Amino acid sequence: MAHNTPRADNTHRISVGQLDMPPRLLLGPGPSNCHPRVRQAMAMNEVGHLDPTFIALMSEVQELLRYVWQTNNAFTIPVSGTGSAAMEATLANCVEPGDIVLVGCNGYFGERLCDMASRYGADVRRMEKPWGEVFTLEDIGTELDRHRPVMLGLVHAETSTGALQPMEGIGKLCREFGCLLLLDTVTSLGGVPVLLDQWHVDLAYSGSQKCLSCPPGIAPLTLGERALEKLNRRKNKVPNWYLDMMMVGKYWGAERTYHHTAPITMNYALREALRLVAEEGLETRWERHRKNAESLWDGLKDLGIGCHVAKEHRLPSLTTALVPDGVDSKAVSAFLLQNYNIEIAAGLGQLAGKVWRIGLMGFNSRPENVTLLLSALRHGLEAVG
Ligand SMILES: *Cc1c(COP(=O)(O)O)cnc(C)c1O
Repeated sequence: MAHNTPRADNTHRISVGQLDMPPRLLLGPGPSNCHPRVRQAMAMNEVGHLDPTFIALMSEVQELLRYVWQTNNAFTIPVSGTGSAAMEATLANCVEPGDIVLVGCNGYFGERLCDMASRYGADVRRMEKPWGEVFTLEDIGTELDRHRPVMLGLVHAETSTGALQPMEGIGKLCREFGCLLLLDTVTSLGGVPVLLDQWHVDLAYSGSQKCLSCPPGIAPLTLGERALEKLNRRKNKVPNWYLDMMMVGKYWGAERTYHHTAPITMNYALREALRLVAEEGLETRWERHRKNAESLWDGLKDLGIGCHVAKEHRLPSLTTALVPDGVDSKAVSAFLLQNYNIEIAAGLGQLAGKVWRIGLMGFNSRPENVTLLLSALRHGLEAVG
């Protein structure tokens, strides 16, 4: 019988040029530039997701994540997806319909936590503060007493506001109220001190493309004993197949059971990014982020630009710089992109039009980037401000 090759429709068969992306310096809220060694690791030979060499790599990634997070949690894995996937995993697994979930709403990502928790049937209670402020231990105590939640969700480093939530005492308070503590560490992990076990955090997640200097696409997740107990006590299946940690945990645990194919090269990338953190040492890395942020803050001041967040709660990895009166913030950021290949971001929500968001994350937190940005900003203000 003759074989007839079907005719393909060529409507969408466009001819595109070789990919040639501009050499941007990503000084916004993320993604940040990845370290060249991370990019190099991604070019390594591909192996299968059950290959003995990959299984060895998985354990290394898990152990290095425990170091970077300062936790002994056995359940510490990278989730396939961006930070929001790991964020959703915490709620999908540990929230059951009707559970009272109290969320700190002082920025964009607190709102996202509320949205996600409500989709899994939580009775969401909001604890509010203006964008740029943080919650005190007293605020939290009062709200825990009032709502008696099953879980308290906080954003450690609010990328939308540039505020760093102080963590001392919160975990202990949550335990007194029998409440799980969930912490978003997307913009803090690898940039500012994150001491999960010391803070008694029960569930935490992060992202790869902020202070870990890795491309977006893989997201750290850790669940402590109390979170796992809640998961194991569930009456119904986790209502999200892809993020079901009972199943995903079997691949990352002793069984190595296939659930979905791990993003192999993203795991190479994360391993190298974490290895870079371990090589540098957390203390040195935290100091570096603080020092470079302080020279940014000083340099902004010299340009007549203030910061939105009070110094004691200011986040070193992301600064919300106040746009001076009469300055067209969008024109200035467009100028930086066009003339200097520098990306900074605009304000969101309550801070729209009021601030620029400037990130100094991971590999990008370097003195030469601060100097370059300040000069470019001065030029931009003169040219189009
Ligand atoms: C970026 C970010 C997220 C979401 O991560 P994606 O990688 O964009 O999905 C969550 N929380 C905070 C604080 C973030 O900065």
